[in-house]
Amino acid sequence: MNQPFHDQPLRLYDTYERAVRKFEPITPDGDVGLYCCGPTVYNYAHIGNLRTYVFEDVLRRALETAGYTVRHVMNITDVGHLVSDADDGKDKMEAGAERTGKTAFEIADLYTDAFMSDINELNIKTPDVLCKATDHIAEQIKCIQQIEQKGFTYITSDGVYFDTSKDPDYGYLARLDVEGLQAGARVSLGEKRQVTDFALWKFSPADEVRQMEWESPWGKGFPGWHIECSAMAAKYLGPLFDIHCGGKDHIPIHHANEIAQTAVCHGTRLANYWLHGYFLQVDSAKMSKSSGEFLRMATLLERHYDPLAYRLLCLMAHYRSDISFSWETLDSAQTALNRLRTAYHAFPDGGVPSATHVDRFYAAVCDDLNTSVALAVVWELLKSELKDEDKKATLDQFDALLGFDLAKWEPQELSIPDTVLVLAEQRAQARADKDWAAADRIRDELAELGFEVMDSADGPTIRQLS
Ligand code: AMP
Ligand code: ZN
Repeated sequence: MNQPFHDQPLRLYDTYERAVRKFEPITPDGDVGLYCCGPTVYNYAHIGNLRTYVFEDVLRRALETAGYTVRHVMNITDVGHLVSDADDGKDKMEAGAERTGKTAFEIADLYTDAFMSDINELNIKTPDVLCKATDHIAEQIKCIQQIEQKGFTYITSDGVYFDTSKDPDYGYLARLDVEGLQAGARVSLGEKRQVTDFALWKFSPADEVRQMEWESPWGKGFPGWHIECSAMAAKYLGPLFDIHCGGKDHIPIHHANEIAQTAVCHGTRLANYWLHGYFLQVDSAKMSKSSGEFLRMATLLERHYDPLAYRLLCLMAHYRSDISFSWETLDSAQTALNRLRTAYHAFPDGGVPSATHVDRFYAAVCDDLNTSVALAVVWELLKSELKDEDKKATLDQFDALLGFDLAKWEPQELSIPDTVLVLAEQRAQARADKDWAAADRIRDELAELGFEVMDSADGPTIRQLS
């Protein structure tokens, strides 16, 4: 195994142990199994979702840079995720079909394609296996049968449920106070015995024809949301694999339930390391698809941002801290990316990487993927006294992890007409005079000419709108 990390051990925060742990693969041959919970394809992904996939991509690249061969599996949830994570309400897919006038299968394809295009724009490596829940109904039924045979289920009028009271370790991942939750459950449980119990199989309602339904030993219906991950992870990675990821919202319900199911079926905790990405927030509120109002990659493109500027914005923070999104931060990221690309392309080839910078960069990466510190090393490198060709060779190494595809970027000749330069100066003056109305008017004039001035801590830069 090659060791570009210069023997620095990769250390990752494991939510299960609540500790940063040295990464040790299960098999010594250097193969690593990585399972990431994928999108529920009833709508477009929002940029918050995409932040989680950027974090997972950095993790994958870190493992690859450390010399491991990663088998990256991601599910596509195209059935069974109900509007409420507590197994109530409509299936999100059927609700999405109603909203759009298409069939549930059509919207699954539409939003899966849109998702693939989004992750491609962000230079996120395509998972080796992308598996759809609807293609694995038999595997899910088999898992539920195993859970039933071991006595962990009960049946209500609307489905087959997992009885969490039978599992003394239930909720350990989230350190759930199961008794407290049960005592505090103000809503009626209905036929559910414990508030933490969850559906493994839901029956099709008698008064409604579902678009997505299958025969099963318990009657016609569809799988609950959590069983798909236990079934598909075991199929593609085995009953115990290395790393399982998702957003932090999955800790108390979805991942707690995945672990409970797999513990019954296979006696394992599913993955040796559990990693969770924190949220992207807008105006201190969680961005969510169900609220209907969210920013998509397409919104960023319409506003002429480069998708990789959003990637850089994500890397500016540690994955275990929430980010507050603002257009100003995205402007700064875009300016920083432009500067990095321009510098890289001005440097000649033929240099050698700077060992000290490489060491410091990987020390940050190995420290639980501390990308903000790694980026600080990038900016320091640019300002350093090193030879330009050595800077370029060092950036090439960094880019394998950062994923900006610096070498592929084509510098565009930007010729800025004099009128634009004059307007930009007038705008700067208007801002200095705090004449915001004039500054906004000039900004609109510039946009009509196809240009935009972006403000950042280092001063304004002019950008051509594509
Ligand atoms: P979903 O498509 O809703 O199943 O979510 C896909 C992924 O995005 C999951 O890993 C979620 O945990 C994650 N996620 C959801 N909302 C956010 C957010 N606002 N910021 C970051 N990740 C999120
Ligand atoms: Zn999952």
